[in-house]
Amino acid sequence: MIVAIDGPSGSGKSSIARAIAESCDLTFLDTGAMYRSVAAECLRAGVDPEDAEAVAEVARAIDIRFGASEAGQTVHANGRDVTREIRTPEVELAVSPVSATPAVREVMVALQRKVGESADVVAEGRDIGTVVYPAADVKVFLTASPEARARRRAVQRSGGNLAENPEAMADADEQAKILADLKRRDDYDSSREASPLRPADDAVTIDSSDLTFEQVIDKICSLNADLAARRKDA
Ligand code: C5P
Repeated sequence: MIVAIDGPSGSGKSSIARAIAESCDLTFLDTGAMYRSVAAECLRAGVDPEDAEAVAEVARAIDIRFGASEAGQTVHANGRDVTREIRTPEVELAVSPVSATPAVREVMVALQRKVGESADVVAEGRDIGTVVYPAADVKVFLTASPEARARRRAVQRSGGNLAENPEAMADADEQAKILADLKRRDDYDSSREASPLRPADDAVTIDSSDLTFEQVIDKICSLNADLAARRKDA
């Protein structure tokens, strides 16, 4: 069983994919964390994120491992815990040119396909349904308005949880900054030549702006009878 969830930054892909993994007993694959790890390793090694050759070298040599802790998923890159580092604004700036480098994508896609060969997977990213797993059993393109996405990220960063408290608010300045960054990354991801962000022809587009977390999960699980049958919480 392969479930592919693509969509722009902040559409809720990560939380949704994680919840589906838990509920349907699937391996969760956060492909954004992989590109972020390459970006973090470039910064650590003093490699210019725009230097395609050097960035590709870093990607070819990188060892990325996902683990688990009480606080959630952990990520190690070349033996270093980068779980927090990959969410910093520095990495957020560097990851766009890094992920637009074709040689980096080649390496990451090969690693991602390997995971799918031996496990049932729910993967989230930008090119999962179009490039990584074109034969996925379920393909979803998850969107939401830029404002809804910025609010979710801002609430998340301030420690709130919209799944538990849909009325949670975040600091307005922080939210405006996040909105500007989301738009910048959307533009970059949609206009790059290598695997631009777009829905697969056979993907089901779900706009989550006015849906609750549970409603999105219900919608996705109802797309495939085998996936629905795997649900432990339904
Ligand atoms: O999903 P997340 O925001 O963690 O992704 C970080 C960045 O990695 C995105 O802005 C995008 O540039 C890149 N990415 C990608 N392809 C994927 C996943 C992420 O290009 N499959």
